[in-house]
Amino acid sequence: MIPPGSTIGILGGGQLGRMLSVSAAQLGYKCHIFDPHERPCAADVAAAHVRAHFDDLEALREFGSAVDVATYEFENLPVEPLNVLGAKLRPSARSLAIAQDRATEKEFIESCGAAVAPWRRVSSLADVTASVLKVGLPLVLKTQRYGYDGKGQAWIHARRDEQSAWAAIGEEPAIAEAAIDFAAEFSVILARWTDGRHAFWDSPRNEHEGGILRRSTVPGGELIASQLEEARNAALRIAEALGHVGVLTVEFFASADGPLVNEIAPRVHNSGHWTIEGAVTSQFEQHIRAICDLPPGVTGLMRGHAVMDNLIGGEVERWPDLVAERGAHVHIYGKGEARRGRKMGHVTRVVR
Ligand code: ADP
Ligand code: MG
Repeated sequence: MIPPGSTIGILGGGQLGRMLSVSAAQLGYKCHIFDPHERPCAADVAAAHVRAHFDDLEALREFGSAVDVATYEFENLPVEPLNVLGAKLRPSARSLAIAQDRATEKEFIESCGAAVAPWRRVSSLADVTASVLKVGLPLVLKTQRYGYDGKGQAWIHARRDEQSAWAAIGEEPAIAEAAIDFAAEFSVILARWTDGRHAFWDSPRNEHEGGILRRSTVPGGELIASQLEEARNAALRIAEALGHVGVLTVEFFASADGPLVNEIAPRVHNSGHWTIEGAVTSQFEQHIRAICDLPPGVTGLMRGHAVMDNLIGGEVERWPDLVAERGAHVHIYGKGEARRGRKMGHVTRVVR
């Protein structure tokens, strides 16, 4: 067990690192943030900030010796250098390596016996054409690496879109995936301990706009409830096959044929922000508990419903009304410039 008073290293200094750091502090831990930016928003609420690039072996080694356990909140880290952190890294670099490559990720999910949308690897325009013939239209191209919030994706609705879509994703190695006519999207968020203990939260229904999460609602409704057992079993098989320690998120499409895995995130997730006020133990606290080997916290709902809305770009300017609203839990990440599409904060409403 890593007791309170110890130091937790967090690779990545965005809002997820910030909320992890706040939860860690509540339990008496100190956090060191490793991030190349000058002033990452997590550093505002942490004991220390190491400013270095993620492939700086010397800096990583020093970071590793200064902390008792290390974790990551950001997926686009080079995996190889993380080996210097050895067993201190939780979850391990394997969870990261699989989740950060969409093709490896899909193969892995399928090897765990979970269903995904029909897909193919593509690495040339000829592959794009072949996948249109094989997978059908419409389909979406997604770069194998570095995609988030709908970035690195282009849709093909008709044969004439093939070339422009291939150009739009930068002609990079990608996957071609069939469009799913889903009734809803939801996520299974779980935490797993080294000895295999695990805990699930209620699954939120997730609404996206332009590839960015807009709103998460719990309970997620009847359709999601009817697919939950199958989805949870799939998520747990994935977590076990990874040997995952900490929070793991699995995004699903609720299709007419049952739950299809969209993607996994080896970390706390935007669709779990509602757990801060909406659940007895938040995803952030639970992640700290799992990586430090404290006992699992209870994950039940505090009240009947919780709704989390993201504040994207200029929406954060609505803060004066939101902080004046009775019972609204406002979170502002302190990220500076409210660029278009940038997640600046969120607001959670927990109701009967
Ligand atoms: P990101 O890493 O950007 O979250 P996702 O693959 O989760 O990438 O895609 C973002 C969103 O785009 C999804 O949550 C969903 O709303 C939509 N989307 C992605 N793939 C498909 C698909 N095959 N069919 C229909 N909608 C999709
Ligand atoms: Mg996603």
